[in-house]
Amino acid sequence: MRDDFSAKTKEELAKRVGYLCSNPQCRKTTIGAQDGQGGTINIGEAAHICAASPGGKRYDENMTPEERSDISNGIWLCRNCAAMIDRDEEYFTKEILYLWKELAEREANQAIQMGKSPMGKDRLSKNDCRIVEQIVNTMEEPNTMYMLKEHDFHGDFQRIYLDPLFNLLDFLNKPMNAVQHYELKAVTDILIEKINQFRWMIALKGGPAKYGNGSYIIDRKSDQNKCNDLCNDIWEAYENVAKVMLNFEY
Ligand SMILES: [Zn+2]
Repeated sequence: MRDDFSAKTKEELAKRVGYLCSNPQCRKTTIGAQDGQGGTINIGEAAHICAASPGGKRYDENMTPEERSDISNGIWLCRNCAAMIDRDEEYFTKEILYLWKELAEREANQAIQMGKSPMGKDRLSKNDCRIVEQIVNTMEEPNTMYMLKEHDFHGDFQRIYLDPLFNLLDFLNKPMNAVQHYELKAVTDILIEKINQFRWMIALKGGPAKYGNGSYIIDRKSDQNKCNDLCNDIWEAYENVAKVMLNFEY
């Protein structure tokens, strides 16, 4: 027997936080227009703070069924966060969840009063923040920066200096490291594409230099020019990522 919320209670929970996920680290919008047709897509859930049935997370046997299905026992979360709070009840205690709920409702209230988002800026999801951090750390690393901004591929180069850049590409190509925010995704996709082209150039056209030392060289002048151009493009793409980042609270 589950003490579920009524449809009215679920809607009320969602509205009280402006349909944003109540996890302060997330704040994802949970409702929007469905693609190409009428209707809406809802990725939000009215989650139970104390579980709806025995064996569930944070279940409290002293509560009555009415208390369990009451609005005071609910919190509006996006699907990911709803699943997350049920994985670890040691960390996501009911006290933490009450606090999230209170903060989210207060922010939604302030947003109405101020006529804008309470932070003034969009917030990035935790996952997007993690991805951007990885991009910045790699690109701002001195050897990588040197290879992209200063090095001239008409001469020899150390292949090893390019590894962090190509490791970043592998990182960004993993599904779990896909950027979610559409604006940030657009600029990140260009960065990925440019690094990808550059890696192909190095793999196909780069060979060991005649005089050793583990250095590499690209033979044809036209390919050397192409590598220089791609390095400029990569840096420009990174600057665009950095520019978009200025619009966010993170
Ligand atoms: Zn969430």
